[in-house]
Amino acid sequence: MVDNNKTPEEIIAEMQLVANQMVQDDIDENPDCANEYFDCDCCGKNKCLAGSIQYGQYRLCNDCVLIAEIGFALGKFKDIQDLIDAMEDKRLEEVCKFIKEEEERKKTLDN
Ligand SMILES: [Zn+2]
Repeated sequence: MVDNNKTPEEIIAEMQLVANQMVQDDIDENPDCANEYFDCDCCGKNKCLAGSIQYGQYRLCNDCVLIAEIGFALGKFKDIQDLIDAMEDKRLEEVCKFIKEEEERKKTLDN
């Protein structure tokens, strides 16, 4: 629930504390998970299992959990799918940029 008495800055600061605490709790509970990694379904990066959360069919790294929770608290996303979709556009942009750069590189090589 959005607490209207809080500023976005306060919400973000609070979420950062919560996210840090989740990493700590996971490590306290299972010290091995500090050395375990997985591919985040949101940002696509290989991230530490500690502090990650399973949202439905997606597992998000702690960084993305923070983005998700801030997004929810500020009403930017209505569910996790919104965030995944938003991040997918970003990932696509990255891929397109990479392909264009590769094409440019090949052209330069051909000449
Ligand atoms: Zn992530």
